Amino acid sequence: MKKIIFATGNAGKMKEIREILKDMDAEVLSMKEAEVDVEIVEDGKTFEENAVIKAKTVCELTGEIALADDSGLEIDYLNKEPGVYSARYMGEDTSYKIKNANLIERLEGVPLEKRTARFVCAIAAAFPDGTIKTVRATMEGYIGYEEKGENGFGYDPIFYLPEYGCSSAELSMEEKNKISHRGKALRAIKEELK
Ligand code: IMP
Repeated sequence: MKKIIFATGNAGKMKEIREILKDMDAEVLSMKEAEVDVEIVEDGKTFEENAVIKAKTVCELTGEIALADDSGLEIDYLNKEPGVYSARYMGEDTSYKIKNANLIERLEGVPLEKRTARFVCAIAAAFPDGTIKTVRATMEGYIGYEEKGENGFGYDPIFYLPEYGCSSAELSMEEKNKISHRGKALRAIKEELK
């Protein structure tokens, strides 16, 4: 059976990825399962560049098809910050309570119509013959005035979905996967793998 390695160390993401790719005729492995132990420097300027760096590195090391994702939050009023620096914003070890409070503070007095934001996810597929494919998907919303919800992770409690009237931290994992940037990008890359 064909092997596909997903370049992530995140167990939650692997679960989501396996669920979406389960009907493919391929064995989907994490880096750990594929015994790939490599430190990858994500120094790209775009989500796509970072995803390509990761997928290419793992493909070259293993000779197998490799997938990688890169995601983050873009806030329009803040010139698309934190963007590719979403995980590193205010420091990798700073809690999301502090990061989220800081972003709300930076938007103090900004009216709803100027608080637009989106989660972005780029996924790259690197093939042993050197071919690279990338896809990008977004989930559009706005930054609220306070944190809400206990589900999800990261910036979910401050990210509001107008059509649902709640934050993405108030959705169940199944509901979020249906509409999320990562869910949509995974379904799109699946088409590229067929
Ligand atoms: P990475 O793609 O795993 O490097 O994640 C990038 C960062 O973007 C995460 O650490 C979060 O800060 C943020 N992020 C990406 N997707 C989501 C999401 O679905 N909810 C909340 N935060 C997210």
